[in-house]
Amino acid sequence: MRIAVISSEAVPYSKTGGLADVSGALPKALRRIGNDAFLITPLYLQTSGEHLWKLAIDDLLVEWRGRQYPAKVFYSEANGSPTFLIDAPEYLHRDSIYGYTEDHERFAFFNMAALALIRRLGKPVDIVHLNDWHCGFAAVKIAHLRFWDPFWRNTRTVFSIHNLAYQGAFGSGELWKLGFGSEFEQNHFAFEGHASALKGGLSASDMLSTVSRRYGFEIQSSENGYGLDWLLRARSDRLFGITNGVDYEVWNPETDPDIPANYSPADLSGKLECKKALLEQFSLPVDLDKPVFGVITRLTAQKGIELIQHSAAELINSGAYLIALGSGDKQYESFLQQLKNAAPGQVGVYIGYNEKLSHQIEAGADMFLMPSKFEPCGLNQMYSLRYGTVPIVRAVGGLDDTVVNFDRVNGTGNGFKFSRFDPSELAEKMYEALFAYADPEVWQAIQRNGMAEDNSWESAAGKYVELYRRTLQR
Ligand code: ADP
Repeated sequence: MRIAVISSEAVPYSKTGGLADVSGALPKALRRIGNDAFLITPLYLQTSGEHLWKLAIDDLLVEWRGRQYPAKVFYSEANGSPTFLIDAPEYLHRDSIYGYTEDHERFAFFNMAALALIRRLGKPVDIVHLNDWHCGFAAVKIAHLRFWDPFWRNTRTVFSIHNLAYQGAFGSGELWKLGFGSEFEQNHFAFEGHASALKGGLSASDMLSTVSRRYGFEIQSSENGYGLDWLLRARSDRLFGITNGVDYEVWNPETDPDIPANYSPADLSGKLECKKALLEQFSLPVDLDKPVFGVITRLTAQKGIELIQHSAAELINSGAYLIALGSGDKQYESFLQQLKNAAPGQVGVYIGYNEKLSHQIEAGADMFLMPSKFEPCGLNQMYSLRYGTVPIVRAVGGLDDTVVNFDRVNGTGNGFKFSRFDPSELAEKMYEALFAYADPEVWQAIQRNGMAEDNSWESAAGKYVELYRRTLQR
């Protein structure tokens, strides 16, 4: 199958969250199992690895506002699959990747450029795989083009929901300007008196997927559906949950070049070295008997930081360490700073984004906290499993699908899981984990259960191929 994956961010070019990990890894995994897959993503000011790409097309003409707008396209294979980077500084160069009132316009342009590129490459694609609201425009446009343009006639679209909370809303009056003048197109975008790029994608795509089975069910309820649950229920026969894979070439403690010592389930001694180095790096007193809780996250309400906030006293009183890496909402950033000031010998905080440090925390921590309010899939709990870092999570979305609560009686399970969004439940699970940690034999059994889990892309990519087949058959 010929598959174009379109995404607003992809590792190793750009990343603000899990979407980038998925978009970077999926085309590579699809190719490995015999598909002609390629990736289209924007070239931002923030895109890294300038030496990795070269100019491929310097005169891509994009149908845009009644004229042909020129863009450039760069080419790279740095993620293991052919990648086309759309270069249009007027729309894509900003101080940050997202967060502007005209984001709908920026990504509508990116979508139109991606479609112009596919056409320019000359060969129709079977599947266009679109991701999150930034790609909703392409879903609507392809559905429309298919009526009269033979190039798109046999192309089918799959739209993946990585996070339903971000909807790409804008005024319906803008649709004309963006090139969506027909009633057919406008109806797809129409949502509660405005236009929503996410709704466009959910409504116009041939097939829908989301990044875990459990999240696929959750978003069909009015509590978690952001006003779109009715649409998801109506299209539930086309909505499939496929848990994200982990790129084990990047996240593997046996080969990871970013950590001070490599280790494996057979010999965990390197993990202790990683822990020592991590404590030193944060200028914390090195007491290797005390456990380290790790946190790596965007600091938003979604991630349940307030549960950590309201159970922090219990954590500190237990004598454990907490090492947190993240950036985002100021209130959570200052909570972490304050906690560090209150317990400088136990807490390490890095406010910002730091890829290398994220590997070092995964390797050096004993436990990983992820008490999310909601979590479409979540990657860090899966990285933690592979690094022998026992996840403590709330049983929602992908966290519920991938973490199995430890059962002392029969030795099964790979982490600790609680249900209610309540700090006392988190504290209880932390205590349970500390109790298990105190017995090295029990602890290593949990670690090894986690390290043995296979959340590789091989299995996830196979499920996507199956989904593409079904899409083409419908
Ligand atoms: P989300 O996409 O909602 O942010 P995921 O768990 O799916 O959550 O993916 C988050 C990804 O971003 C992980 O790869 C994680 O390691 C990374 N990440 C988040 N915050 C930071 C940070 N401050 N520094 C480095 N990596 C981060």
